[in-house]
Amino acid sequence: MAKPRIFSGMRPTGKLHLGNLFGALINWVRLQDDYDCVYGVVDWHALTTAYEDTSEIRANTRELVMDYLAAGIDPKKSIIIRQSDVKQHAELCLLFSMITPLSWLERCPTYKEQLRELEGREIMTHGFLGYPVLMAADILVYKADAVPVGEDQLPHLELTREIARRFNFLYGPVFPEPQPKLNEVVLLPGTDGRKMSKSYNNVIEMSASADEVRRAIENMVTDPARIRRTDPGHPEVCSVHALHKVFSRTMLDDITRDCVNAGIGCVDCKRRLADAVNEFLEPIRQRRRALEREPGLVDDILADGAKRARVIAEATLEEVRKAMRI
Ligand code: SF4
Repeated sequence: MAKPRIFSGMRPTGKLHLGNLFGALINWVRLQDDYDCVYGVVDWHALTTAYEDTSEIRANTRELVMDYLAAGIDPKKSIIIRQSDVKQHAELCLLFSMITPLSWLERCPTYKEQLRELEGREIMTHGFLGYPVLMAADILVYKADAVPVGEDQLPHLELTREIARRFNFLYGPVFPEPQPKLNEVVLLPGTDGRKMSKSYNNVIEMSASADEVRRAIENMVTDPARIRRTDPGHPEVCSVHALHKVFSRTMLDDITRDCVNAGIGCVDCKRRLADAVNEFLEPIRQRRRALEREPGLVDDILADGAKRARVIAEATLEEVRKAMRI
């Protein structure tokens, strides 16, 4: 029996960090056994907020594919694509744009949020407003049954489902309504205690060397009330402790107790965290080093992914054109 299909993608905007790894990638790797997965590097989406300077998109695409592979995405099990290699995404986006009311896009909460965040930038473009339509096309061109999402992305997926419903109502049943597959959410704080995010410049990259990890953790903010080594700590407000919860599960109770009793200094506590993070990242680094020794690997994987994806996407478009009588 065919497995249900999943589509998900990330924008090639730079190297991935631990927040991306725990927020999405680890989950993607797990899904590979039970689903027929298509994972995209959605390079057209990168243009929606950064169309002026495109100099890094190709290099970032390669980095992102390397991050996928190093994390454990297996191109034999899953299809890895660069969105712009599969032109059917664009055709379907165009057709969906004809049936999507503007009001659906304007009410999208992330649209308003991004407008606020990126204030001062020239992003009031057709492409920016319409980016959920392109996202719907990315998902529905593969007739995905499910989409791994975080709670914050649910409104976008709902829009995809609305577009599928509207299409099916107007032209006949072609598309499934993809279900959300909620990620097991592990929110990692960044080095400054806020959510780990590239825009806050507080990330630890997945491909960071052991020394880079150590330096980043040495500079992390801790409990501000713990000024002297003898002051008792408050682990619940400390971002180092929040990372220990993820990376040091077996010694977490000891660390918590030692922090509260001032039995450990923050320098030592950070050293232990750096050891744990490095131990976790080492197999990922090793895979990456091995992959880097294979020239042409990323090109081959993307070429193979595009070939396999186009077959699925073109079959969908044939149905779409027939249903729409064009
Ligand atoms: Fe944070 Fe560790 Fe210092 Fe406690 S001992 S405040 S958990 S860094």
